Amino acid sequence: MEELLKYLQLQSKAVPIAGGDINQAYRVTDGEKDYFLKCHPQMSADFFQAEVDGLAELKKAVRVPATYQHGSFEDIAFLLMEWIEPGEGDQKDLARELSKLHKIKGRKFGYKKNNFMGLLPQINLKSDDWWDFYFTNRLEVQIKIAHGRNHWTAQREKDYLLFKDHVYQKWGTMSFEPTLLHGDFWSGNTFFDGQGQPVFVDPAVSYGHREMDIAMSQLFGGFRQEFIDSYQAILPMQSGWQERLAIYQLYYLLVHLNIFGESYGDSVDRVLALGGK
Ligand code: ADP
Repeated sequence: MEELLKYLQLQSKAVPIAGGDINQAYRVTDGEKDYFLKCHPQMSADFFQAEVDGLAELKKAVRVPATYQHGSFEDIAFLLMEWIEPGEGDQKDLARELSKLHKIKGRKFGYKKNNFMGLLPQINLKSDDWWDFYFTNRLEVQIKIAHGRNHWTAQREKDYLLFKDHVYQKWGTMSFEPTLLHGDFWSGNTFFDGQGQPVFVDPAVSYGHREMDIAMSQLFGGFRQEFIDSYQAILPMQSGWQERLAIYQLYYLLVHLNIFGESYGDSVDRVLALGGK
């Protein structure tokens, strides 16, 4: 770490920042200006390239930290960004900003490159069909990883097939537009700057159904009802959105099952059980 700071011409006092669960993050300074430094010892330089690219996409519509330098140094991947002093803000403004992202339309579902969801690969092969994209690029990629990590039982596979049938039967004929997604929209990945402007960080972008971001926002808390109400007022979701949230939360739950283990198994099973209804 000392060596990395020297390499980046920063002073040696690095203040660790809590909140992220994937990377090591620090507030650092060069004596004049503060920066936000993220490091990951076991990842290659392209890990933060994906984050830099994702932030550049979001920047078309919302406030993100500027990115200054990224790469790897002695096997540590790093990303040096603008330090944004956190402040207080309004959930209505957050909803308005998210809706700006969701007004950016794509021609297909997917993205020009694969990227990462946490530390796991996120595959973005383009597709014209939302449900095909969601099942093959999202759920089944994570299920394959779950297999490899011994989290996928024969029972889960059986329940998953019923779940998939159920989704196609219920929602298969409904069409959705591809829009730019933050992709990992939990409360730790957004905050307000000192002027109350919402800031978006740590994205896993792709073009998808915008209810994915709403589903993630509702999975672990941290957003007030006012957020959803304002979002609905600005950019109303199609009928049935409340019912579809659990379908989309399954992706994030599978990612958590793969990263953190069986403590997320019951939540995964509860969503899979929708197929039996
Ligand atoms: P991780 O990839 O480990 O999840 P994050 O990028 O989410 O790390 O950052 C961790 C925390 O640091 C966030 O929850 C956020 O509150 C804060 N943070 C992120 N980016 C900045 C920044 N540019 N300036 C100040 N604080 C930030």
